[in-house]
Amino acid sequence: MTDDILALAREQVLERGEALRRDQVLEVLQLPDERLEELLSLAHDVRMRWCGPEVEVEGIISLKTGGCPEDCHFCSQSGLFSSPVRSAWLDIPSLVEAAKQTAKTGATEFCIVAAVRGPDERLLAQVAAGIEAIRNEVDIQIACSLGMLTQEQVDQLAAMGVHRYNHNLETARSHFTKVVTTHTWEERWETLRMVAEAGMEVCCGGILGMGETLEQRAEFAADLAELNPHEVPLNFLNPRPGTPFGDLEVLPPADALRAVAAFRLALPRTMLRFAGGREITLGDLGAKQGILGGINAIIVGNYLTTLGRPAETDLELLDDLQMPIKALNASL
Ligand code: SF4
Repeated sequence: MTDDILALAREQVLERGEALRRDQVLEVLQLPDERLEELLSLAHDVRMRWCGPEVEVEGIISLKTGGCPEDCHFCSQSGLFSSPVRSAWLDIPSLVEAAKQTAKTGATEFCIVAAVRGPDERLLAQVAAGIEAIRNEVDIQIACSLGMLTQEQVDQLAAMGVHRYNHNLETARSHFTKVVTTHTWEERWETLRMVAEAGMEVCCGGILGMGETLEQRAEFAADLAELNPHEVPLNFLNPRPGTPFGDLEVLPPADALRAVAAFRLALPRTMLRFAGGREITLGDLGAKQGILGGINAIIVGNYLTTLGRPAETDLELLDDLQMPIKALNASL
C-alpha cells in the first residue's frame, strides 16, 4: 500500500475504474507543479482506458440571449448587471442554418440555449418549432439548455425528442450562495433529477475560478460524481466587465489543468468537455494540454457571448493527435 496519491489513483482509477473520492480529489488538487505532467498523463490514460480515444464534438446556439432575471455573478447575460449583452431572439431559419453548419464539422450534438430562469410557454413553443425544423433538414442529436424546469416541462422536452439536457450546478453547494442568490443549488439539483428520470442524458458542469477554495473544488467534483451525469462541461471564469465577478483573477493555467485532471479522476467514465474560458486561462496550447489530460469533448463555434477558437483549429488538433470524432449513434 502506498500513500502517494498518484500511485494510488493509478491503481484505483486506472486499473480498477473506481473514481477518486472527495478527500482524494483534494490531494490531487494540492499536488505541486512539478507533478503536473505526471498527473495529466495519468488522467489521459484513465480517459483512454475508460472512455476510449473518441472525442465528441458539439455545437451550441443561443436562441434567446441576454436579459435573464437571475443574478449568477459570472454571467454577462443577466439583465441585473451593467454587462453589454442585450436581449435578442434568434429566428428559426437561422437556427436551422446553425445546425447545418454544426453538422458539417462532424459534430453529433447541437445544443439550443436560452438565457432564462426557466422556459415559459412562448419559449417552449419556439424550441418545439426549432427542433422540428432542424429534424427535417439535419441529421444531428438535439440538446437543450433552458434553465430550471417543472415536471411538466421535463415531460414536454422528452416528448419532443430532446436527447440531452444541460443544466449546470455551477459550483460546490457550499459556495453556491456566493455565486447566485436568486435561486438555490437544490432547485438546480431537482431539475437534474427530473431530467435523468425522464430518460434524457444529463449534461452538468460548472465554472472554476469563482473564488472557491480547493476544498470546494473537490466538493464540487464529488457532487458531480454523485449526480453521475453523462457529460460534464468544465468552464473557467472569464471575468466579464460589468458582472460582480468582473474583477476576479483568471485561474492560473497550472491550476486549471490540475482541475481538469482531478475531475477526470473523479469521473473516469464521464464525457468531460472543455467549455468556455479556455482560451483566456490556458492560451493557445490549452486545447492540446487538456485533450491530453483527460478532456474528451469539445465545442465548436462560439461560446454564447464570447468568441471561442475557430472550429477548424480544434478539429485539426484532433486530427494531429489521431483522435477520432465520435460518430452519430456510435453508442447505440
Ligand atoms: S440563469 Fe443562466 S443566463 Fe441567467 S444569469 Fe444565470 S447563468 Fe446567466
